[in-house]
Amino acid sequence: MTSTANTARSAALQQVSADAPHVAEYEGWWQVPDGLLTKAQLADLEFPRRPTETPAGRVWSEDFRGRPDRLLVDLYRPEACLPTGASAAQLQAAAARSTTRSYQCAVCGCRPERTLDSSNPLCQVCSHIQRLQRQQNKARQAQRFAADRLAEAMTWPGAVVLHTTEKGQLTSSGRPRPPLSARISAVAAADGRKLLDVTVSLVTSPRARLRDPDATPAAEITDKVIAVLGGKPLICWAHNDIATLSRAVPYDWPATEHHTQRPRLVTIETWSTAWRAQLTAKGGPIPARHPGTADRLWLHLTRIVASADLGDVERTAGYPEGIEPSG
Ligand SMILES: [Zn+2]
Repeated sequence: MTSTANTARSAALQQVSADAPHVAEYEGWWQVPDGLLTKAQLADLEFPRRPTETPAGRVWSEDFRGRPDRLLVDLYRPEACLPTGASAAQLQAAAARSTTRSYQCAVCGCRPERTLDSSNPLCQVCSHIQRLQRQQNKARQAQRFAADRLAEAMTWPGAVVLHTTEKGQLTSSGRPRPPLSARISAVAAADGRKLLDVTVSLVTSPRARLRDPDATPAAEITDKVIAVLGGKPLICWAHNDIATLSRAVPYDWPATEHHTQRPRLVTIETWSTAWRAQLTAKGGPIPARHPGTADRLWLHLTRIVASADLGDVERTAGYPEGIEPSG
């Protein structure tokens, strides 16, 4: 909020405390409970009402006429407001003249008392459904795009599906200690064959008190890890897989995602979310979870690839407009 808006706001607050009983104040329209109407909305009711002397609440609103400060808009409870003086005949005449007001939803046929925009007369539920359907259509486009993209990555020659985890411990006060070891597992993208499953110690000092008894010292295993993964296209869930790999086995691992330059790397978390294409009831994407292990990640990927082979689906040339590949 600007300082002018703050001044306007505190002036308004003083005004409220000086001459009115407590009136609820809302920070924005999102906070206003259903059923409170502005003066203009009371006038636009099918059977219009006069605002009460004291509003039931106030809301801070943008000034839609382009002025920079926010406005404090009065809100009323229509049940508490008296009818205007307009007679049935006057209301009928006004309705006949109006070209912008509608009191019937074009889809479900409900008849709200509040006016609907006659260019697209939809009730709240129908416009919500319409918005969700649009979001589902976009999600479906993103799903096809993700499937195509990952199907291509799975055919990269020598591609490896990689999964890493770190084993840590907590201090006695519950804070995480630096990880003791890293488990690196990998399967071949082509057939899911196990290529690697090693646990590498991340503790370098030989005298360190804490170490993972199941972990192999990095010096003994570095060559093997590099022989399996070095220079190969890597497919993993997220960048932390590469970070863990680099911590355990220092090497020139690909740092950024690339589909064309070598070495290739793709992190699939956002693609997986896009492919699942499941939305919340509010229309946001539901983030995908890691399947759990390298071989399960491979299974997930093969299912994605299979869905890309459906053939007659419409292909999009770029990432569908309006959908971010992030989660
Ligand atoms: Zn409706």
